Amino acid sequence: DLYGPARKNSEGLDLSIKAVRDDLTAAVARLDGESLKGAPIVSGRLLTDGEGAEARSPAELSRVIGRTWQASPRQVDEAFAVAREAQPGWDALGGEGRAKVLRAMGDALEAHRERLIAICVREAGKTLADAIAEVREAADFCRYYAHLAERQFASPETLRGPVGETNQLQLHGRGVFVCISPWNFPLAIFTGQVAAALAAGNGVLAKPAEQTPIIAAEAVRLFHAAGAPAGLLHLLPGDGAVVGQALVSHPGCDGVAFTGGTDTAWAINRTLAARQGPIVPFIAETGGLNAMFVDTTALREQVIDDVLLSGFGSAGQRCSALRILFLPHETADALLDGLKGAMRTLVVTDPADPRADVGPVIDAEAKAALEAHVQRLEAEARVLARLDVPAGGHFFAPTLAEIPDASFLGKEVFGPILHVVRYDPARLAEAAAPLVQARYGLTLGVHSRIEAFAEEVQRAVPAGNAYVNRSMIGAVVGVQPFGGEGLSGTGPKAGGPHALLRYAVERAVSVNI
Ligand code: GLU
Repeated sequence: DLYGPARKNSEGLDLSIKAVRDDLTAAVARLDGESLKGAPIVSGRLLTDGEGAEARSPAELSRVIGRTWQASPRQVDEAFAVAREAQPGWDALGGEGRAKVLRAMGDALEAHRERLIAICVREAGKTLADAIAEVREAADFCRYYAHLAERQFASPETLRGPVGETNQLQLHGRGVFVCISPWNFPLAIFTGQVAAALAAGNGVLAKPAEQTPIIAAEAVRLFHAAGAPAGLLHLLPGDGAVVGQALVSHPGCDGVAFTGGTDTAWAINRTLAARQGPIVPFIAETGGLNAMFVDTTALREQVIDDVLLSGFGSAGQRCSALRILFLPHETADALLDGLKGAMRTLVVTDPADPRADVGPVIDAEAKAALEAHVQRLEAEARVLARLDVPAGGHFFAPTLAEIPDASFLGKEVFGPILHVVRYDPARLAEAAAPLVQARYGLTLGVHSRIEAFAEEVQRAVPAGNAYVNRSMIGAVVGVQPFGGEGLSGTGPKAGGPHALLRYAVERAVSVNI
């Protein structure tokens, strides 16, 4: 069965145990003795031609962690040609054969997790806790898609037909998929997309975000060691506008899986639309203008805890993160007092420090956009609290601001800025109207003890993932299939039972013998 208990998620590591903290600190120190490489991997070869560019840690700009190289047009052509040749053999292996490779990859991720965690910390500025979750989720994707491959791709469905005729529905890989992944989950989403495309029987050309090619190169090496043929899976790092564009516009591309910003999704969609040749699927997972609605029956401490985690966890750099918190007029002052106090307990520091709750944002550009937004909040709304942050990296002060209503934000602001709107829960539709008009639909939070209210919020604000009386981040593979609607994405949901089907073609075969 696709949903059932035949499968277990990874357990991760417990940072409250001293030995775990010591191990991870040692892993980061070991990594600091190395010069890391993020470069194209074509047919199993790491291609470090030319000088490349220096990679620095977003938490500490003086720290050089290694070098990165971008893929060339020739490498893109070669990777497509080689993957196309390798794909039929991989497809013929069937769901069970492919599942073995994905399971081996899940195990490999766990076997190397200290090193992978250390790279996530240094390259992406992830806190140790977030990096632990990152490796866990990557392993979960591999095992969950192995589970689906065994059930959906092992043998064709036999369908009812006339006596004497055999009718079957077969699922096959489409060919060569292009997977384009973001820097905010540089291992989990990268691995999840590749694992899904492989599970369905495709070859893969993967382009990680330009900020995080090192962890991606590490993942590709592990995939190959786990048994994914070197000719089948290639890494083509580089800028979206150059390498991403070359991949998506290439006649060899049979489908695109993308997670990132809505603007990039539009650009990819336009490129695909202008292509001559096969009409291919586009699986997009983009941003959100995610809201949480609190009513007067909500439990104060619980609201504060969940808001803090949802708004400021991962420095707000999740597409699931809480952006607009709706508080009822009656209890807003008390909740805001509590929230401001709780914000002061957040530890914003070096992400390699086990105490860190919030690390840096990814780069100077991200930080500048957030600064500009805070200037607008200061001029046109009201900033209620900002925290102090360390110097020397791309740290951005977690900020709490009150805005007049949700129309103040037309689009996603990606970082640790939480907006509060006071509202009347009896006039929910009015408060929610600007959200609905914006047409996003990713995550939604509700805090209320009244079931009917929670349901009313869900009817009023369409969203792919709704969370009642809990935080609204950290969807778990196979438990909370993740992905949105409208401007937030096309589906199918990552980590859900239908995840693999758009990566596949269906062939109906009728035989009379
Ligand atoms: N799946 C993640 C979560 O539930 C968010 C993924 C993303 O930011 O793209 O928090």
